Amino acid sequence: MASSRRQFIRTGLGLAAAAALPMGAGCAALRSPAPVASSVAPGAFRARIGAATVTAVSDGTASSPLAEGFVRNATLPQVQQALRDAGLPTDRLTIPFTAFVVEHDGRRVLMDAGNGQFGAPTAGRLLANLGAAGIDPRSIDTVLISHFHGDHINGLRDRDGALAFPAARLMVPAPEWDFWTDDARRAAAPGAPGGDAVRRVFAPIADSVVRFQPGGEPVAGIRSIAAYGHTPGHTAFSITSQEQTFAYLGDLTNIAALFVRNPDWAVRFDMDAEAARQTRRRLLEAAAAGDWIVGGYHLPAPGLGRIVRRGSGYDFLPLS
Ligand SMILES: [Zn+2]
Repeated sequence: MASSRRQFIRTGLGLAAAAALPMGAGCAALRSPAPVASSVAPGAFRARIGAATVTAVSDGTASSPLAEGFVRNATLPQVQQALRDAGLPTDRLTIPFTAFVVEHDGRRVLMDAGNGQFGAPTAGRLLANLGAAGIDPRSIDTVLISHFHGDHINGLRDRDGALAFPAARLMVPAPEWDFWTDDARRAAAPGAPGGDAVRRVFAPIADSVVRFQPGGEPVAGIRSIAAYGHTPGHTAFSITSQEQTFAYLGDLTNIAALFVRNPDWAVRFDMDAEAARQTRRRLLEAAAAGDWIVGGYHLPAPGLGRIVRRGSGYDFLPLS
């Protein structure tokens, strides 16, 4: 994809420029060593985080014309300028989808499940890319879901109802479950989100879905972090091993050039824009301060990288 490649190259130049900046010795000493990271197949990228392995696996992209209202609280010219500053096209948006496989302590955990057969023709690549990365879907023992938007859950079951990860324990944030399965609450929410994907995916398997309260460890060694705002139960996950931290941020931000760069901007998909803004500020700052390796569902390829402060916002620096 030309646009993501261009963005990748641009960010690469940004990294080189950042490296050339004078940096206090103390600051450099605080940095944890660069993780060992490499591409394992087109659409799959792997990094070591201490004793854990994290593989970012692409589910493809979706592209649409940029329209007024994509960012609720910025004008179209402001949005176009931010895209231009990042070397991205200003007439179209290409949104990547990336799920993450964390292998640690003999477990193989998938974070979010892709569009399956229900997204854009350029999406739904997760199973193919897992295969290319040498990961058998039947070997996934746990699936952790960040939130219930269709692009994150539709890949769990196909059109015929078959489970994509048949051996996996399916774990979801309880507040997310409670919201989407309560018709009255959903109908009263701004925009009254439909919930068709939630019904299709979860209704027939409701008894087997494990609901966890964010804040604990749904899987030993993997912490869940309440990150509400994008949706009522939106949840992030983190794992720390040998003093390195990986955090899967889900939809904390959409397009990085817009919402990592301008954390106060609200994408139209944020259900509670103010809660989402505060959550975004809090977690982006934690990621920058802690030198975390972050994964984001809609971050540019390979979807894994670091958050660094710039002005009143941040940049996402992809691993390469
Ligand atoms: Zn999403």
